[in-house]
Amino acid sequence: MPKMKDFLENVNSLCITGHVRPDGDCVGSCLGLFLYVKKNYPGVDVQLYLEEPSEKLAFLKGFEQINSFYPDHEAFDLMICLDSASRERIGKAEKYFKNAKHTVNIDHHVSNTMFADENYVDGQSSSASEEIYKFMDAALINRDVAIALYTGIIYDTGVFKYPSTSPLTMQIAGELMKHDIPTDRIIDESFYAKTYEENKIFGYAVLNSHLAFDGRVIYSTITQKELKEFGVSSKELEGIVSQLRLTKGVIASAFLYETTAGDIKLSLRSIAPFDVNMIAQQFGGGGHVRAAGATLKGTLEESVTQVLAAMEKNL
Ligand code: 5GP
Ligand code: MN
Repeated sequence: MPKMKDFLENVNSLCITGHVRPDGDCVGSCLGLFLYVKKNYPGVDVQLYLEEPSEKLAFLKGFEQINSFYPDHEAFDLMICLDSASRERIGKAEKYFKNAKHTVNIDHHVSNTMFADENYVDGQSSSASEEIYKFMDAALINRDVAIALYTGIIYDTGVFKYPSTSPLTMQIAGELMKHDIPTDRIIDESFYAKTYEENKIFGYAVLNSHLAFDGRVIYSTITQKELKEFGVSSKELEGIVSQLRLTKGVIASAFLYETTAGDIKLSLRSIAPFDVNMIAQQFGGGGHVRAAGATLKGTLEESVTQVLAAMEKNL
């Protein structure tokens, strides 16, 4: 397996990106790589393009250097896509991908389409942050890089809970901890902390949830009007679908909300052996076996009906 130093040979400009609506693992892995290259390869012009991430991650070093404006840039020598299962998932960064002289895709989604010149995808791995760590030289990782990668691992393992958490995940987290990082604060900030408004809409979504199929499926929805009433953006609905999934007797949860663009965003979670990646793929999305998502067209009601029908077939 190559290392970052191999990728960066004869490279003067590097573009890093992740997926649209970037989450903790996406931001953590991208910033981890960005900071690693900045510190160890000062001759490389490195840019990080991501849609505006949640302010919750603003404690990460380099957060303010994330470019969400996607200005024109001459063709990059190298483009590295992290945590992105397909070319479409990189969103506006597509314009850099198209022109890049060489492209690398490092990811952990089983649904990855192997869209780059070089593809390193481990569908069993906990996170993109764990994957990018494997390309780094441990001696060149500093505290800021360690905090970013630890944040990504915490986020995508649900604080070391999801089945994708392996002994190797824990070993890597242990190595990162050696940098004297504030693990308790990272876990709170990147996973549990909610604003007052977020807590309220979380409670509201749980309160308005419905059981289906003898209590084996649970679902809830949020409209744009409700988002406005609570004063939260659609970025601030995290954790709801996971909490629904914890309901006794439930094997799969679905959470749907209206986006500002008028689409419906679907989030799915499950317990073994229910495969939600397969369900999400039926709607043009994807993800993991236990956590997946998609974007649907139509009304909230129509989407709920379609999603429940797809889930029922696999119960
Ligand atoms: P979430 O429900 O938290 O938005 O996403 C859960 C998982 O599904 C994540 O790993 C995410 O990358 C993936 N996912 C969510 N939405 C989509 C989508 O529209 N398309 C694809 N391919 N994956 C998605
Ligand atoms: Mn991820």
